[in-house]
Amino acid sequence: MSVFDHIEFDEHEHVAFCHDKASGLKAIIAVHNSHLGPALGGCRMWPYVSSDEALNDVLRLSKGMTYKAALANLNQGGGKAVIIGDPRTAKTPEMMRAMGRFVQSLGGQYISAEDSGMSVDDLKVMAQESSYISGTKAKYRFDGGEADGNPAPSTAYGVFIGLQASVKYKYGCGLKGIKVAIQGLGHVGYRLAEHLHAQGAELFVTDIYPENMLKAQQLFNATVVSPQEILALDVHVVAPCAMGAIINDNSVHKIQAKVIAGAANNQLANEKIGETLKDKGILYAPDYVINAGGIIDIYHQKMLSSSEALRSHLEKIGQTLEEIYTRADEQNFATNVVANAIAEEKFKN
Ligand code: NAD
Repeated sequence: MSVFDHIEFDEHEHVAFCHDKASGLKAIIAVHNSHLGPALGGCRMWPYVSSDEALNDVLRLSKGMTYKAALANLNQGGGKAVIIGDPRTAKTPEMMRAMGRFVQSLGGQYISAEDSGMSVDDLKVMAQESSYISGTKAKYRFDGGEADGNPAPSTAYGVFIGLQASVKYKYGCGLKGIKVAIQGLGHVGYRLAEHLHAQGAELFVTDIYPENMLKAQQLFNATVVSPQEILALDVHVVAPCAMGAIINDNSVHKIQAKVIAGAANNQLANEKIGETLKDKGILYAPDYVINAGGIIDIYHQKMLSSSEALRSHLEKIGQTLEEIYTRADEQNFATNVVANAIAEEKFKN
């Protein structure tokens, strides 16, 4: 299939392919839209079984970044890079340097960051060859603490703000006494639990590993439940913070909560589920809007900013969600559909 006819092509501005024979690098960079600024997005290394699979991934992900950046109020477009290969066995410093040169060859149209299969150390090697690599050093943390380059604290704070705004919109109250079920207590989920507990929310948590659940039980008085139970609990909010496609044709009918607000990417198994959620009276915080804290963090780290500016930018996630919810109610549309429409108004005009 040709690139232009690809089902995920969707008016991409630039798709570049690189084969560096010396290092074995095979990579693709996709710039979806740069109307709002240079395209920012992670570089992923993955053992794709075919170049078509890699192309599909990079086109889909770069488009997603355009929508995310637009609704996060960033002067950035959407882009992504993929390297074809197993990150545990095929990665070499020569390959990372070749990838840096590939990024550099686009002259700043694409700015690279970390993604699956890549580490900060890999980015540092890429940065030896390119001035368009972000996420190699961190200066600001939203709470004024010491920044270590991990965007999860910002993501968790953004999700907390978004969850708070969603509860206010749906139930007209604050978080005290609100029951929240958190699926996944990893980098983001655990920190979200911490914020929610501090505001008096009642927590129900699950994970496939016990460590953080036990900590949450002891420190936040959280009730531990099994992964099979978490979505169906009689709670006010479900916060998916583990994996994608968790709201699907099967699970959607089990959910009793009237708010879904969590960090996981691609929570809806398909876009139509948004309509089902609307019909069931469930307020869904579009994932790429509520979990934009990480990209907002990376954006601030690469310019002259401050912890206060980062924090206030993260807090805008609440206002953005409120705007989406209001318009969704006025027009009787699903929130995911309205989020896409608002993003398109921003990057297409
Ligand atoms: P993580 O890997 O640190 O945490 C995920 C947690 O979910 C782990 O503790 C894992 O054990 C648990 N888990 C996995 N499968 C589960 C299941 N079936 N039931 C219950 N728990 C399960 O990841 P993270 O960085 O906390 O990110 C969480 C989600 O948010 C991911 O979908 C990620 O893509 C998304 N996200 C993260 C960031 C970020 O800054 N880290 C930014 C945007 C989006």
